Amino acid sequence: MLHKVLLSTDVTLVCCQHALSTEKEEIMGLLIGEVHKDNSLVSIVSSVILRRLDKKPDRVEISEEQLVQATLRAEELAAEVGRPLRVVGWYHSHPHITVWPSHVDLATQSMYQRMDSSFVGLIFAVFLKDQTTKAPQIQITCFQSINEGSNQSRREIELEITNTTDSLILHNFQILAKLPEILKEEEDEAYRIEAGQGDVMDILNKQHNTAVRTIAIGHIVEKISRPMLEALVARNELNAFRLKALKKQHQELMNKLETMSCSV
Ligand SMILES: [Zn+2]
Repeated sequence: MLHKVLLSTDVTLVCCQHALSTEKEEIMGLLIGEVHKDNSLVSIVSSVILRRLDKKPDRVEISEEQLVQATLRAEELAAEVGRPLRVVGWYHSHPHITVWPSHVDLATQSMYQRMDSSFVGLIFAVFLKDQTTKAPQIQITCFQSINEGSNQSRREIELEITNTTDSLILHNFQILAKLPEILKEEEDEAYRIEAGQGDVMDILNKQHNTAVRTIAIGHIVEKISRPMLEALVARNELNAFRLKALKKQHQELMNKLETMSCSV
């Protein structure tokens, strides 16, 4: 029985960034990781952002094709790092609502769990406000479904966010960098669907749809690409600063070692 889930820091970052990309709709993705110790522990090391096929405010679904693609991606990563990685769970966002899984979420989770007993669900509740401080807040829950008669209820799984130490950092960084592109593809597709509806689309309609798409792309650049770039530049500067400090420390220690070996 599954007891604990370890979630790497960079996957947490990718999921949060993805969840924060829209206030209006739920977003969704799949989680890649490894199952350890008689299925009692799962570690999540990477993720796959899923494009929404149909933008509805409430529910997004995973298609068979997306699941197959994620499985192939997990196999690629597994071959690269030499560990048995596979799809171990799914995540989705709850913008402006409580972190707890809905009945639909529990039913979806239950369906996956029937195929794989260690499969987990993560929910990122975003755009929340701390009641006392009014500071923006993100809540994360990790759950599985348990069947009680014909109903399902949730079982919370202990979640620990752990520091990333493995070779997947670059991969996860690439997923993050690809997010604006995926969001733009969704907008392009919505535009194409809209444009394909009936051949009697008049010029006004066309103008309107083009304007909507332009606003949406502007939103992606302003709310996602730019802040992400700024954050990454800041992180790069911090890393450069740390590197300098570590090099200095290294040099000092080497000097010390030299004087010690001289005096022996
Ligand atoms: Zn939900």
